[in-house]
Amino acid sequence: MSAFAAIRIDKDEAGYRAAYAELAESELMEGDVDVEVTHSTVNYKDGLAVTGKAPVVRRFPMIPGVDFAGRVTRSDHPDFRPGDQVIAGGCGLGEQHYGGFSQRARVSGDWLIHLPKGLTPAQAMAIGSAGYTAMLCVLALERQGLEPSRGPVVVTGAAGGVGSVAVALLAALGWRVVASTGRPEEGAYLKDLGAFEIIDRAELSTPGKPLQKQRFSGGVDTVGAVTLANVLAQTAMDGVVAACGNAQGMELPTTVAPFILRGVSLIGVESVRPNLPLRRTGWERLARDLDKGMLARMTETAPFSEALERARSIVAGKIRGRLVIEIG
Ligand code: NDP
Repeated sequence: MSAFAAIRIDKDEAGYRAAYAELAESELMEGDVDVEVTHSTVNYKDGLAVTGKAPVVRRFPMIPGVDFAGRVTRSDHPDFRPGDQVIAGGCGLGEQHYGGFSQRARVSGDWLIHLPKGLTPAQAMAIGSAGYTAMLCVLALERQGLEPSRGPVVVTGAAGGVGSVAVALLAALGWRVVASTGRPEEGAYLKDLGAFEIIDRAELSTPGKPLQKQRFSGGVDTVGAVTLANVLAQTAMDGVVAACGNAQGMELPTTVAPFILRGVSLIGVESVRPNLPLRRTGWERLARDLDKGMLARMTETAPFSEALERARSIVAGKIRGRLVIEIG
């Protein structure tokens, strides 16, 4: 069978390393659908995987890449036929099963959805798991009954991938968005995405009192640690915070005060499990609610030959918004 290019991560006596490699289709893992991958994207988790900075990869060798879009070339799954355009994300891709930094993928059809109407494969990867996670955060706020009339919402890590999509989605849905960033030079970019106010992330990143001035009706936190503790302390009565990330750290040095004295809700968001109904809802909302012009403005495109270097840069906080990788 034909050979194809992929990034492969190895861990053995020679150490932990990621490099481009040529693989044969017979080396792909099990799955009832084969896909010719045309696009992928770089998420924070991909950066952790290629650098080995966190134990994201659970078996070796591994092809990283949490997301991919492409065309079905073979299917034994009833929902897919050769020629179908599909997307995949999460579901252990790039962690336990070969992922999207590869010209070919073989996966379970239960992890795929058809390319949502109104999106090109490149746009779907501009959204990727980061954008899908941002949408899950917005759905979580909505499910708790939070409405724009309740006051401003904060987005932390706003210039990052999840943060950028969250700012654009919330602004498009009528919220006044306060964007917290450590990169003041990205203020104009964030305003262009719809942010109403930009704050320096230093305002939230050092320890504060358990209860502080009620500033936000809620928010989307991609940062965790002290930042999330301060967001909770500054959330107004009955507010709702959706937490999805740990860019500052895993710890959460908070108290019960926001929960028991202000009725604040903290909702955890995870985007990895293969929950097809939720995936379909999330992607339909993304196709509908996310302004395509804005998506283009927050997205950069790079060739496959740069994927490895770009994945390393995301961990250093050097990537703004979203990055699409053209694979095919
Ligand atoms: P990015 O690297 O694109 O964005 C992270 C942003 O966090 C940075 O751009 C920066 O924003 C901010 N940041 C980085 N370091 C720090 C720090 N030390 N203190 C405060 N802020 C910091 O990553 P993604 O947007 O792809 O992912 C964001 C987070 O969400 C990650 O932790 C990731 O693991 C998590 N995630 C979780 C998912 C889930 O299923 N729960 C799915 C996808 C992502 P700025 O420059 O604006 O300050």
